[in-house]
Amino acid sequence: MRPDLLVEAFNELYPDRPFSFTPVVRYSGKFKGFNANIKMRGSTLTVSLAKQWRQISKDIQLGMVQDLLVRLFKEKRDTTNIRLYLSFMKNVHLAVPKTKTDPFLAETFERLNREFFDDMLETPNFDWMDGTRTVGLYEYGTDTILISKHLARDPELLAYVMYHEMLHKKHKFASKPGRQCHHSRAFREDEAKYPDASRLEQRLGRVRLPRVLRWLF
Ligand SMILES: [Zn+2]
Repeated sequence: MRPDLLVEAFNELYPDRPFSFTPVVRYSGKFKGFNANIKMRGSTLTVSLAKQWRQISKDIQLGMVQDLLVRLFKEKRDTTNIRLYLSFMKNVHLAVPKTKTDPFLAETFERLNREFFDDMLETPNFDWMDGTRTVGLYEYGTDTILISKHLARDPELLAYVMYHEMLHKKHKFASKPGRQCHHSRAFREDEAKYPDASRLEQRLGRVRLPRVLRWLF
């Protein structure tokens, strides 16, 4: 993507406003999957994106940048490109290679998949993560379920967190531009079906620091 695509994305999104920034676009190998972010420093607007974006069509890239802009300026707008981008992200898991696994996480996943999802969820990547702020995470852009190492010795809580992340994989996100809803009503209803959910939620609150879901692309 060239800096002028950032200008183009902005102009289509906010035709009523002049583009008054210095546009910078940076591809980076440090991003996983199709992650990207946007930063404004002074009058410089920088989009950093995973290298993999190079292979994706311009229309979808424009939508991705517009989605970032909408979140940066906290102003809802709806464009064809954003819709295109959201449907791309919903299906990107199909194209993501499955390279990372872990026997314990995979086994927990398979058990829950049988028990609660009629074996309908396809197996994602699995990984452990450090840090204490997040107990679990589903990364859409890499189709990876990440579980905190702090849960490694607590199979009961680990399974509960895994179930939550599996629901993210099942429900994806509601496609409202600029405001992705991770925990829809349907999601919460499914979550409550887990046996003993409220007790486990309490245990999680005691054991854990605040539970934060990060949005990673
Ligand atoms: Zn969540």
